[in-house]
Amino acid sequence: MHLGNYLGAVSSWAELSKLKTDDSQKLIFGLADLHAITNKHPKAQDFIDNKMDTLAHLIAFGVDPEKCCLYIQSDVKEHAELAWYLSTITNIGALARMTQWKSKSGQDETIANNELSTLQSEFSLGLFSYPVLQAADVLLYNPDFVPVGEDQTQHLELTQTLARKFNHIYKSNVFKYPRIMTTPAKKIYSLKDVTKKMSKSDKSKVASIYLSDSDEEIRLKIKKATTDSIVGEPFKFDPSKRPGVSNLINIVAGIQKKEISEVEKDMESLNSHSELKKYVSDVIVEWIAEPREKYKAIRQDTEYLKKVALKGETEARKIASENMKKIREAMGFK
Ligand code: AMP
Repeated sequence: MHLGNYLGAVSSWAELSKLKTDDSQKLIFGLADLHAITNKHPKAQDFIDNKMDTLAHLIAFGVDPEKCCLYIQSDVKEHAELAWYLSTITNIGALARMTQWKSKSGQDETIANNELSTLQSEFSLGLFSYPVLQAADVLLYNPDFVPVGEDQTQHLELTQTLARKFNHIYKSNVFKYPRIMTTPAKKIYSLKDVTKKMSKSDKSKVASIYLSDSDEEIRLKIKKATTDSIVGEPFKFDPSKRPGVSNLINIVAGIQKKEISEVEKDMESLNSHSELKKYVSDVIVEWIAEPREKYKAIRQDTEYLKKVALKGETEARKIASENMKKIREAMGFK
């Protein structure tokens, strides 16, 4: 996982698990391994290891498995079943308009039309239709809120549309209309190209800060981060005029859980871009030390991780199977 995952999603999951006071509130978080194979097919053992890495990161960075249901998506077979049902009511045009599909299939770059059709034919049906599986991931649990990064807004809108459409077609009220819940940081941009979101599929090695990066790697990446050449002005959050600087300010605000204006005030004494970058690196390095150490300890304890996954699976399957029964009944399946 990278800093965008943490600041856009995981930090709010951690915050929510701290705020949870009683059993009437349910927090359900899935590790989306069925999605992970939409553009890469790792070797089975590497895939298993990656999942354990992610699970350990989630726990180390604050998602409390005692308070949340933390499960692995493929352990709950109903996800794939519901995705199929929903795919039959999903408009292909709506999927083709998804900005994530456009960016993953290269359509947001300047590519000649003939090259584009060759390029698109290389992408899988799974990558194209993954927002449908994502809608199933959400609707299977009938949640009130979905805490995700702002990059997921379009997919959440599709989820709401599918819930309405299903209820209308089957004259039921099986599904609630879940609402998106974003963190204040909303969206973290690539350190290299500030028009793109920070993403694990970025080819540049310095575009994303990973939660397992060493202090040296973090400092180097921030040092190489794209900013601007404006001098003699204080560092202010202004995404249209100063996107690179604004991204760094947003990262600091997200980590320190401060208002942007407060961070701007803290940065008033900084006189150069190199001072800014040192400041930002110091904030990240200082904050990450503790959870990164915690991660190392948790990651070694495979038995504990397996227990967490099993607890999550049991809880998630219970909810999913009850809801799935209602969905099948509404459709006339057994
Ligand atoms: P993904 O990396 O696409 O599997 O996303 C996992 C979670 O992290 C989702 O809730 C995303 O909305 C969130 N996320 C991913 N990248 C970013 C980003 N650059 N900024 C903010 N949130 C993000």
